[in-house]
Amino acid sequence: MSKVLIIGAGGVSRVVCYKCAAHPEIFSELLLASRTQSKCDEIAKDIATDLGYTAIKTAAIDAEDVPALIALIESFKPALVLHVALPYQDLTIMDACLATGVHYLDTANYEPKEEAKFEYSWQWAYQDRFKEKGIMAVLGCGFDPGVTSIFTAYAAKHHFDEIHYLDIVDCNGGDHGKAFATNFNPEINIREITQKGRYYENGAWIETEPFEIKKVLNYPNVGARDSYLLYHEELESLCKNFPTLKRARFWMTFGQEYLTHLRVIQNIGMAGIEPVMYEGRAIIPLQFLKAVLPDPGELGENYVGETSIGCRIRGIKDGKERTYYIWNNCSHAQAFKETRAQGVSYTTGVPAMIGAMMVLRGDWQGKGVYNVEEFNPDPFLEVLAKNGLPWHEAFDVDLEL
Ligand code: NDP
Repeated sequence: MSKVLIIGAGGVSRVVCYKCAAHPEIFSELLLASRTQSKCDEIAKDIATDLGYTAIKTAAIDAEDVPALIALIESFKPALVLHVALPYQDLTIMDACLATGVHYLDTANYEPKEEAKFEYSWQWAYQDRFKEKGIMAVLGCGFDPGVTSIFTAYAAKHHFDEIHYLDIVDCNGGDHGKAFATNFNPEINIREITQKGRYYENGAWIETEPFEIKKVLNYPNVGARDSYLLYHEELESLCKNFPTLKRARFWMTFGQEYLTHLRVIQNIGMAGIEPVMYEGRAIIPLQFLKAVLPDPGELGENYVGETSIGCRIRGIKDGKERTYYIWNNCSHAQAFKETRAQGVSYTTGVPAMIGAMMVLRGDWQGKGVYNVEEFNPDPFLEVLAKNGLPWHEAFDVDLEL
């Protein structure tokens, strides 16, 4: 029986709240706080209607204001702060957790607003302070990073003596019927995918141009899709935590229509993150673009098809080479039916709830800053399968990579 403070009230937060409400024996009370309180109220109202869970209070908070966060935490006294606002707020929320001695969990690593740069260095720098305070920070507990990291840990623990080649494959085989929309926060998403690609090979990072490397990969229950090599944040921690890796890459599917829109957006300067003057006021083009694009939280209603995300691994077991594929497929329509949110929010929100459950139940324990692959994967994956994200395995198959 624990109180949890959830920060942010977007699509991912909605799923986190629904899933916490489905486990009142663990999440006895929630405080949902975000920049716009009315969005928190809407989620709380839907959950009361759909699940009859009424133990959600709401509040307005600017998660970049550390004294305000400290005051909120001190008044509610949660056991854990579950951060599903934006990556820009990771450090201020970690500061508030340190000041109040409360566990922290997030789904995306810190990035500074002024530079699209993804690395764990800023958050790993809190290691000693979290250790001394006797609390945990759990980093990257969504699907990717999150479940993909835990799939890798599970493979290393149960099926390999050494893992050598890791390919994380992320397919959204769904169709929301819009000409162009992103599946999570458009600003964060476009910053991520317009960066140069990068992968790890033989101890070095190799950089590629954006969308330079493409392969057609087959995804279970979806079929063949164009898949592009991107840099993704979990590669950094996985290469550190699994030093036997000779190569680690990340692939994501994009349709031609999406890439054409993206190219136009970039070419006309709308993906820019430097301020421009408009009618005497400084605006950031990408933030303005976010305001006119569909809200990812509203995509759910007519979304059909499935996501399929997993890990394709090659390594050694008992002296022999082995291949292994572990994945989850998630139906957008099923996710919407349950939580009124689409599949990408669902696949992120469910693992975030389970990570919080792992900490509160004591399945994951420690003092300091952790990436999720450092914990025991078994209890997490057991609960994941029972909470809407069943997973599947195939051995000694053609990995296509
Ligand atoms: P949304 O944009 O839908 O929601 C973000 C929420 O954060 C909004 O409610 C927003 O408030 C709130 N917010 C923004 N700034 C502040 C602030 N300064 N103080 C308080 N609240 C603030 O995003 P998503 O729900 O799609 O994504 C949430 C997080 O999940 C992101 O960090 C994203 O990177 C991560 N993610 C992780 C994935 C994974 O697999 N690991 C996959 C997908 C997403 P307002 O409503 O006022 O705008």
